[in-house]
Amino acid sequence: MEDLVIMYHYVMEPEEWKGSVPISPSDFRKQVEWAKEHYEIIKPEDIHKQTQKPKCIISFDDATKDQYTNAFRILKELNVPGYFTIMSGPLIERKVPIFHLVHTVLSHFKEEQIWEEVFQQVNVTEIKNKSDIYSYEMNEYRRYVKYLFNFYWSEEQSRPYLERKVTSIYHTLENFIEEFYLSEREILEMDASGMSIGVHSVNHLPYERNPQGFYDKEIRGCKNYLEKLLNKDVKLYTPSFGGGEQSIQMQVELLPILIENGFILGFTTEKGFTDMRNGFWHKRIDCNQLILNGVV
Ligand SMILES: [Zn+2]
Repeated sequence: MEDLVIMYHYVMEPEEWKGSVPISPSDFRKQVEWAKEHYEIIKPEDIHKQTQKPKCIISFDDATKDQYTNAFRILKELNVPGYFTIMSGPLIERKVPIFHLVHTVLSHFKEEQIWEEVFQQVNVTEIKNKSDIYSYEMNEYRRYVKYLFNFYWSEEQSRPYLERKVTSIYHTLENFIEEFYLSEREILEMDASGMSIGVHSVNHLPYERNPQGFYDKEIRGCKNYLEKLLNKDVKLYTPSFGGGEQSIQMQVELLPILIENGFILGFTTEKGFTDMRNGFWHKRIDCNQLILNGVV
């Protein structure tokens, strides 16, 4: 059997979070118990350690608050480590990426209501056709809304509407950031409790074909921030969107720059098992995929 890296995002009750597909805390616990039985759950820093069983890393993207309140609590109870990756933009620049604003708006408002508020400002036929990329979404208005904010409108067009909706719930964007993301105190506590902390991004942008420019814009700032906060080297990297549409080029072009800057491991969104003894980049399997395959 090969090694496994499981990818998690939100660990929350599906009724409490309608913005995307979360895993409930009880299913999360079952998966970690399953992994603990069949694998040796390790920190990424320990990939070369000799183990009886194949190795497993429990990885988290985006550093949302539920990862502290739910996932970290359960990992501590089960006495296993997790690997959490931070997006520094919201913490330093107090700027929330568009896709998180979209998740939040979709979690608090009906899709149809949002569509009602915006459809007169857009080319409805174009959006209806192009929103097919979200064909996995059962609700048609959800497809339209996601396509509109994530692709059809520029960030400058989407942001004011989305921030207005979010602040109508959380009062201020500051409040939202405090409630939605891990705080510095929480990151420090998780690190001190044996969790691994890595870089996810600054502002959660996909890779573009300029490796040094991308490193300077999306990686360096987060690494420096974490190293100052934790007072130690940060050597782990999980690219946002797995790199995006250019993920294969990213793995090749960015690698020498990452190594030059002290990174030792990277985790992609390519699906599959991996061999932790070899290579820099490792594939992962999404937690919802494990559920579909009947693991828990
Ligand atoms: Zn992410």
